[in-house]
Amino acid sequence: MLKGKSAIVTGSTSGIGRGIAHALAKEGVNIMTNGFGDTPETISQVKSEITAFGVKAEYNPADVSKPEQIDAMVDATIKSFGSLDIVVNNAGIQFVAPIEEFPLAKWDAVIATNLSSTFYTARRAVPLMRSKGWGRIINIASAHGLVASPDKAAYVAAKHGLIGLTKVIALETAKDGITCNAICPGWVLTPLVQKQLDASAAKDGTSKDDEAKKFLAEKQPAMQFVTPEEIGGLVVFLCSDSAKLITGSAYSIDGGWTAE
Ligand code: NAD
Repeated sequence: MLKGKSAIVTGSTSGIGRGIAHALAKEGVNIMTNGFGDTPETISQVKSEITAFGVKAEYNPADVSKPEQIDAMVDATIKSFGSLDIVVNNAGIQFVAPIEEFPLAKWDAVIATNLSSTFYTARRAVPLMRSKGWGRIINIASAHGLVASPDKAAYVAAKHGLIGLTKVIALETAKDGITCNAICPGWVLTPLVQKQLDASAAKDGTSKDDEAKKFLAEKQPAMQFVTPEEIGGLVVFLCSDSAKLITGSAYSIDGGWTAE
């Protein structure tokens, strides 16, 4: 059903975005990959993983916090593939500090990368999707879009804001064959979380394995990390015809984190 469609997956050179790109490519979707500061070796590896599914893959280096770079990425996608049918807003960064020590520049960077970026892609994608009467916008929020944790002021604010923005886009496109939903993962063991585990292990003088168990025990009752493949499966479902009336929703995939 998705064969021949085209997607931008931001932050798809690593972690969750890479898993989502694979899942969509497996369904026959051409992928514009994107990431920040990637090496030529990584870019070529990421592209070949996608073309192995028999679809087209391109890479665009847009910094998603910069609207003019998003515009250029959208234009490049249309030029390469002829359409933009699916946008997965996945690129994101984390910074952890108590509020009184939270650097202003980090606040601005987290809000721009994790929240404003979706406004920048949606304002370009919606008219293109509307003209075709079909589109899917999927925003990778977080359990932190629904509940908070200390020391994550900017991230929690951005992810809560992203769920609000998801609802607005859903309402504005509800009659146009377009859906917009958020996915709220719990812990996924990607470089973004590994950095937090490493910092915490160094601070507590514990092993990384013990720290991983501690992270899960604190938040994720299933005591297992969610995988990028599982999130990719949910993205494919949200792109399917069965999900055509699911819009404005926030889907938890968090091993029970937000049920507590
Ligand atoms: P990751 O660090 O493995 O990957 C992040 C990707 O985003 C990379 O490709 C990176 O190059 C890209 N990126 C970062 N800043 C960018 C920018 N300014 N412009 C373009 N690309 C940029 O992280 P991940 O864990 O895969 O996270 C992906 C998304 O999932 C993020 O939005 C994150 O908040 C969210 N998330 C992650 C977890 C988790 O446990 N890992 C949980 C909930 C939500």
